[in-house]
Amino acid sequence: MNIVLLGAPGAGKGTMAQLLVADYGVAHISTGDLLRAAVKSGSDLGVQAKKYMDAGELVPDQLVIDLVKERLSHDDAQRGFILDGFPRNTMQAVTLDSELGSLGRAIDAALLIDVEPKVIIDRLSARRTCRACGHTGTAADAVCPACGGEMYQRDDDKPETIKNRLDVYEKNTAPLIEYYRGQGLLKAVDGDDAIDAVYAATKEALGL
Ligand code: AMP
Repeated sequence: MNIVLLGAPGAGKGTMAQLLVADYGVAHISTGDLLRAAVKSGSDLGVQAKKYMDAGELVPDQLVIDLVKERLSHDDAQRGFILDGFPRNTMQAVTLDSELGSLGRAIDAALLIDVEPKVIIDRLSARRTCRACGHTGTAADAVCPACGGEMYQRDDDKPETIKNRLDVYEKNTAPLIEYYRGQGLLKAVDGDDAIDAVYAATKEALGL
């Protein structure tokens, strides 16, 4: 199972990825999580990435592509992977296809989680993230429901950055819907529903 998740920030890509990973034992490759870990560790990559992330802009392609290539080589990714937040533009999608091709692998499906912009803004404003494990919850979670860690609001989930992230999505990432449709790989689910319903639709769309 090699899946790309598509959808605006806050559509629920991370939540669907966490559920699929728990049920099917594939690797969750979230470029946002990998980049946040790099920022936290203070590595060169983290220092370079931080200014783009804080502004809601895309981190330069080569930095992200190198991260994904390295992560795809881990053992758990050999069984399959859920890519969450990558690719984010056509250059990344084309590079991914050629990288996978050279490994004799390919994307099986690109799943679009489709959500109304109004729902996205409400969700991102209320979203809280666990500092320890990256689990996403809401402002109602005093501690992380997964590990008991401290929940915080990502800088880029603050109102001033949300609008820019949505603009970047429309301009750079939304064209990938047509890219994967053209390859016959596009599936779509309505992401406005409750998590259980979206997950049931996801499994059906992916033939699981
Ligand atoms: P996310 O957690 O997926 O919303 O990503 C948070 C931020 O990390 C984004 O707003 C970008 O600044 C950066 N980022 C994540 N994935 C990518 C990517 N594939 N290409 C460029 N920047 C990315």
